[in-house]
Amino acid sequence: MNSPNSAPHRIVIVGGGAAGLPLATRLGDTLGRRGRAIVTLVDRFQTHLWKPLLHEVAAGRMDADLHSIDYFLIAYWHHFRFRFGAVTGLDRTRREVQLAAVLDDDGEEILPAGVLRYDTLIFCIGSVGNDFGVPGVTQHAISLDTAVDAERFHRRLVAACVRAEGRASRGESAAVDIVIIGAGATGVELAAEIRNCTRAFASYGLDYLKPERDIRLTILEAVPRILPPLSEEIAKAATGLLGKLTVSVRTGEQVVKVDAESVHTASGTVLHADLVVWAAGIEAPLVLANLDGLEVNRAHQLVVTKTLQSTRDPDIFALGDCAACPWPESGKEGAILPPRAQVAHQQASLLVKTIRARLAGAPLPEFHFSDFGSLVSLGHLSAVGNLMGRLIGGNIFVQGLIARWMYASLYKMHQVSILGWVRVAMDTLSRLVRHRLEPRVKLH
Ligand SMILES: Cc1cc2nc3c(=O)[nH]c(=O)nc-3n(C[C@H](O)[C@H](O)[C@H](O)COP(=O)(O)OP(=O)(O)OC[C@H]3O[C@@H](n4cnc5c(N)ncnc54)[C@H](O)[C@@H]3O)c2cc1C
Repeated sequence: MNSPNSAPHRIVIVGGGAAGLPLATRLGDTLGRRGRAIVTLVDRFQTHLWKPLLHEVAAGRMDADLHSIDYFLIAYWHHFRFRFGAVTGLDRTRREVQLAAVLDDDGEEILPAGVLRYDTLIFCIGSVGNDFGVPGVTQHAISLDTAVDAERFHRRLVAACVRAEGRASRGESAAVDIVIIGAGATGVELAAEIRNCTRAFASYGLDYLKPERDIRLTILEAVPRILPPLSEEIAKAATGLLGKLTVSVRTGEQVVKVDAESVHTASGTVLHADLVVWAAGIEAPLVLANLDGLEVNRAHQLVVTKTLQSTRDPDIFALGDCAACPWPESGKEGAILPPRAQVAHQQASLLVKTIRARLAGAPLPEFHFSDFGSLVSLGHLSAVGNLMGRLIGGNIFVQGLIARWMYASLYKMHQVSILGWVRVAMDTLSRLVRHRLEPRVKLH
């Protein structure tokens, strides 16, 4: 696509998450380093935290600051540019993406609004909670969309425990009611993590609070069983483990309203709630709904072909949660790929080949998803799930410590795709040492 004397191809990647950051890293290392393309990553935050860790941040198992990766540093190491700011619009005729001004905590401007020119534009801006119009969700429930949301939930959880301790010390009720709406992987993992972390909080000087009795955790799910996209076997094992963690699971309960003190369901049940988490579905960010005529579905996802090109503009690609990509391997007509880190990661790997083919003027490869299974974490010592693939001869059910170890290795693999083996090994060693100097859970 580039003639020998033409300017380097401008690749703009919007969103530095599970898909965008490994993609920018690999394109920077291959094309950016040799001056064959100018690779620019744009994100509305300055640091990256792998999204599947958000429930651990929310519960307090993980300190987001200690696990976040600075985009400017990764850009420096991997020969791409980083532009801090949220994309707000697109002009396809001028081949420009529009960026909002960046403001500091006091509302002072750090960077003015601007535009970035592209030859190839790649959207991977993830997803946000979809409240399906249920009244009160936006005002009274937290959706774990970003590290900021997870930290906000964590501060509220710690405050609720400290308040409950005060009440218990005066001989009053210490109950804290936490209602999680949605029994997908996020809801189930969050409930288990909260149970384990609140046990640990209590051991740091909360003498009156009895987490098992006082922190009352309920998961509400509209359909008849938990983990609807996964197998019956996984759902059954997870239900058993949640029972052992004294998490109450109520299926077939559709939430119709959330207010300041309670959650209301269609069956007429009203549950008292001190903290409410909405984990009942996702949609792509609203900004995609009006992107200069690009096709989107009802969940605002950009509709793409098997080559991950948007249906109405071959210079614009989308991947990860914000893309509606055909999934013929599912055997279901019209099915699109599920919003999972595994999909995002595989699509990013394909786009590295795609961009090379595009620059060489060769035909673009098509995306075929290889499902390696799913794992659901139930605290730091347990997980359930299945492993799939030709190498292991089909589909195997796994649970316990081995499954948890495999779950943890997914994060390590994501880190390796950005930092490389050597840096990840050094980071893991330093964390093992620091572990002895830190509390088991974040206490503030
Ligand atoms: C609590 C939780 C647990 C999960 N657990 C698992 C799991 O165990 N396994 C699994 O496969 N999946 C899991 N997922 C889903 C997984 O996190 C997503 O599928 C994956 O992160 C999608 O990758 P992505 O790159 O599309 O989006 P993301 O990783 O969300 O990245 C999107 C990026 O875009 C940026 N961005 C957004 N809007 C803009 C804008 N307008 N301008 C500039 N930048 C923008 C964001 O800041 C972010 O950096 C989990 C999700 C959650 C919330």
